[in-house]
Amino acid sequence: MRQRIESACRQAHRAPASVLLLAISKTVSAPSIRDAYFAGQRSFGENYVQEGVEKITELADLNLDWHFTGPLQSNKTRQVATHFGWVHAVDRLKIARRLADARDPGLPNLNLCIQVNLSGEPTKSGVSVGEVAALAHEVNSLPRLKLRGLTTIPEPTDDPALLRQRFAQLRRLLETLNTDGLCLDTLSMGMSSDLEAAILEGATIVRVGTAIFGSRTAADRAMQ
Ligand SMILES: *Cc1c(COP(=O)(O)O)cnc(C)c1O
Repeated sequence: MRQRIESACRQAHRAPASVLLLAISKTVSAPSIRDAYFAGQRSFGENYVQEGVEKITELADLNLDWHFTGPLQSNKTRQVATHFGWVHAVDRLKIARRLADARDPGLPNLNLCIQVNLSGEPTKSGVSVGEVAALAHEVNSLPRLKLRGLTTIPEPTDDPALLRQRFAQLRRLLETLNTDGLCLDTLSMGMSSDLEAAILEGATIVRVGTAIFGSRTAADRAMQ
């Protein structure tokens, strides 16, 4: 996996250290995460609150960096604010407010990314392009949170040009927000099948599951 990232970085004239490999460990057992840790992996992403908190508790002896990458319901914000260092898919001010209220001031600020629905498909989560700026400025003003950037999951497509276009769109959105006075450094985009295109367009975090841990079982997929 590191090799795929390094080769994409070479092609993009970027330093490999500018891309964080986030291992998406949903449905992966705690012992397998421990193995990945001993192989050098530090950052892990979980999509389900209860499953994630169980593994975080079980692996508390390791120095791991936990990201919550799933959709977040307001009744789960306290657990996420307590156990995770990052949240990747904020798409409502209400959720951000609840995370801010629940974050222990003794902990570092909780890192957040706003999820953007670039294709405008009504069934997908994420804010529309037109709503990003307002939400970003509001979230940025909340205490105990650190707005870091934007996340997207493009619509399923076999068209590499469309994928590139989506990733480029997210990068330009981030640039526009920074021109408007924000100071964002994170583009969370690219997964097992499309991380090269994402890196070419500036991804700083790639979220990779199956290409690290193997394919999830049908039962696991049904949970998602
Ligand atoms: C599952 C998941 C991933 C990883 O997907 P793979 O195709 O297995 O690499 C990345 N991001 C999110 C939000 C996910 O739910």
